[in-house]
Amino acid sequence: MSPVAQPENEPASSASETTVIDLRSDTVTVPTPAMRKAMFEAEVGDDVYGEDPTINRLERRAAEIFGREAAIFVPTGTMGNQIAIKLHTNHGEEIICEQRAHIFEWEMAMMAAFSGCTARTIEAPDGVLTWQQIERGLSPKLYYRQQTGLISLENTHNMRGGAVSPKSVMDEVCDEAHERGIPVHLDGARIFNAAAALSMTVAELTAKSDSIMFCLSKGLGAPVGSLLVGSADFILRARSVRKALGGGMRQAGILAAAGLMALEEGPAYIKQDHANARFLAEELARTPGIRLNPDSVQTNILIFELERISAAELTKQLHSRNIKANGVGLKQFRLVTHRDVTREQCETAVRIIQELV
Ligand SMILES: *Cc1c(COP(=O)(O)O)cnc(C)c1O
Repeated sequence: MSPVAQPENEPASSASETTVIDLRSDTVTVPTPAMRKAMFEAEVGDDVYGEDPTINRLERRAAEIFGREAAIFVPTGTMGNQIAIKLHTNHGEEIICEQRAHIFEWEMAMMAAFSGCTARTIEAPDGVLTWQQIERGLSPKLYYRQQTGLISLENTHNMRGGAVSPKSVMDEVCDEAHERGIPVHLDGARIFNAAAALSMTVAELTAKSDSIMFCLSKGLGAPVGSLLVGSADFILRARSVRKALGGGMRQAGILAAAGLMALEEGPAYIKQDHANARFLAEELARTPGIRLNPDSVQTNILIFELERISAAELTKQLHSRNIKANGVGLKQFRLVTHRDVTREQCETAVRIIQELV
């Protein structure tokens, strides 16, 4: 077994464990009382027949917010990304993505297993994949070379400390890719965090990508769900792929009701999450035993190097002090702020981490 814990996959703390400070991921938030009320009251129907009014409302609203024709609700971000990959590529093609991209590191090699593609990864240590870097990974247009089928961007970049790609960088990638007939997918699991950091709308920021996946279940605070956004034709075809993957849900309006609240009200909380991450970054950057450039922390994720203690040891020690957090490498550690962690809890976490490292 790898000594590195898996940040997104451990069971979250239950709401009753109020003394636990959970900094593993923004996926650990539990639905607010208002969300539970909305779920309780949700109007539902069979979504495979297109008859769930709450799902339909959520999909229309997501499309509207992103300025696109259509959207489809999917249970997870992974499913949204993999549907997009399936639709954009042919078997035997390559997908260009950053070396630590979620689609490459955390999606069970489904680009190969389901879509028959290999990844051509490009290292961008700052998490911002530029056209200049991508260009070097493009396949030449020769009949005896496998072709680049898709470029996939990630914004914010999870494993690169929540790094934000500016609009100008994403637009250039899209323009150059489109000129060569290559589609661009955006893994925007945390695109609302990127938009908040850049003080722009998600529609503006994502205007040129062919498809966008974003998560309701991360910084926006919903218990479940993601959306894939794109053209009407693309989303119609996505419905078939979702069904093939076993993602055709029935009275899922119960989930969409919480999702709608997250979509409408979640973005307002993100600035606070970013301020808390910034606070953690500044405190930890001056802590002996930790290597971190606080200016690299732009959103709600911090990744830093431990100089003395291993990540596994720190996880264990923190756990005994009622703090949950995980490594993302042998000596690399990650903290994530979210709606269910307060500034006061961040202060406590800093104090305890400083004692341990
Ligand atoms: C969380 C995440 C996803 C999707 O994860 P699920 O757990 O499948 O919802 C996709 N991309 C990135 C960058 C993520 O952080």
